[in-house]
Amino acid sequence: MGQSSLASRHATPFADGGPRKMLIGADWVEAVSGRRFESRNPATGDLLATLPEGDAEDIDRAVRAARAALEGPWGRFKPDERQAVLLRLADLLDRHFDELALLDTLDMGGPISRTRLGRKRMVGLLRFYAGHATALHGETIPNSVPGEVFSYTLREPVGVVGAIIPWNAPLGMSVLKAGPVLATGCTMVLKPAEDASLSPLRFAELVLEAGVPPGVVNVVTGFGRTVGAAIAAHPGIDKVAFTGSHLTGQDIVRASAGNLKRLSLELGGKSANIVFADADLDAAVPGAAMAAFANTGQVCSAGTRLFVERRIYDEFVGRVAAFGRALRVGDGLDPDTQLGPLISQRQLDRVTGYMDIGLKEGARAVSGGARLTEGALAHGHFVPPTVFADVTDGMRIAQEEIFGPVVSAIAFDDADDLARRANASMFGLGAGVWTRDVRKAHRLAPALRAGSVWINCYQLMDPAVSFGGYKMSGYGRESGAAHLHEYLNTKSVWINAT
Ligand code: NAP
Ligand code: MG
Repeated sequence: MGQSSLASRHATPFADGGPRKMLIGADWVEAVSGRRFESRNPATGDLLATLPEGDAEDIDRAVRAARAALEGPWGRFKPDERQAVLLRLADLLDRHFDELALLDTLDMGGPISRTRLGRKRMVGLLRFYAGHATALHGETIPNSVPGEVFSYTLREPVGVVGAIIPWNAPLGMSVLKAGPVLATGCTMVLKPAEDASLSPLRFAELVLEAGVPPGVVNVVTGFGRTVGAAIAAHPGIDKVAFTGSHLTGQDIVRASAGNLKRLSLELGGKSANIVFADADLDAAVPGAAMAAFANTGQVCSAGTRLFVERRIYDEFVGRVAAFGRALRVGDGLDPDTQLGPLISQRQLDRVTGYMDIGLKEGARAVSGGARLTEGALAHGHFVPPTVFADVTDGMRIAQEEIFGPVVSAIAFDDADDLARRANASMFGLGAGVWTRDVRKAHRLAPALRAGSVWINCYQLMDPAVSFGGYKMSGYGRESGAAHLHEYLNTKSVWINAT
């Protein structure tokens, strides 16, 4: 089936159906302004839906609803009741997963073969948070104050959370924000990215269906500069959980100063992926290629600085390029597609701009290097997997986050100097090491300044294992037990029983 017929077959049902208003309290509403904006399919340019263009007034309404919910019955939910709604939500997500995966494919372009794969992780995340809902507890702490004086701690929800998410994994990000909110008893105002709001809205319907009281989860659609900025500055919001670029993260830090909000920032990266000559190259080639190309490179922890030991450099880089050339780029609705389009014209300009910068800097494009426009690809924002060779550490394509399927391959000789070179980046999100020598791996793991280090693998994730950044990749951790603590305050209680 041709790509355009695939797209038109699937675009139609969602053009008129699905939740196309935003959720404030119990109500699906229009923006106060009455304005709407368009949501388009990045593979075809087709209009999928129009959505309310919220602004600061809508954030006000949503914050009031979230505050009221915190002070209402939700605030009195027992841990096992919060657990029960999370488990019901996990079941609903499982049941509706194909539909949500399809929404993400249409809205942000990810291949259906990839968006469908998220089921285990996302359902598992909700069950993980459900487990924690009944396991959160304070401590009894012996103190040295004279007399009969007891001290213990209570763990309390931080309150109203403003969650701001990007477009590269809209459903997954919604789950990652809602899970700890529901487990800890917080409430939330969620702002999806303007380019991919459909699955977060559908997810919010399931949240209500699961029995979460109205107002606990609110979704306000619109633009970052208005809705996002209003969340960051709002005095009624206690914490912002942000995922996006480091530049927006800096804006949020500044805007949050008014009431000194708690912040967690999951930002960008330029992660080093290191391949030694003694690695299992048959595993390292696809590992290094997909570390950079998966989701068309629109992955925060993508392994885009590829350090390769010089004596295998040419062979290895050639094999990664060949792997990239063999990947099928196209409309994500085609089950055979491996890489979909970039999300937007803005992102296409950015990625092709970096391809030009790489060539101007003197790097060699072994594969890719320019936009794809043949046939049906002309209607979308398509680029090929691109491998730049002869890259040096200081080039812009080695330092700046491109957020497209572009990998910059750098040769190394001196293993002792590797950690310094890998760490010479303002980011610190992920790092990869490929070697059969366990000593090299052990030495590098603590030396690399990154929140995740993957050895003979890349991008593995699990609900129980923390993920997050060093340096300009942000602070705070998502998933893992540490995630819950980002949503809790500690209160110390003293009892004088002397
Ligand atoms: P972005 O421009 O920072 O946008 C992220 C979100 O912030 C969007 O919802 C955006 O709204 C909103 N926003 C924009 N300006 C804002 C402002 N002044 N105040 C408050 N909110 C604002 O990032 P992006 O380009 O969409 O996403 C890609 C970036 O996210 C990359 O840097 C990537 O590495 C990072 N990321 C990090 C992780 C992680 O876990 N560490 C995961 C995924 C992505 P609109 O888009 O609607 O304008
Ligand atoms: Mg879209």
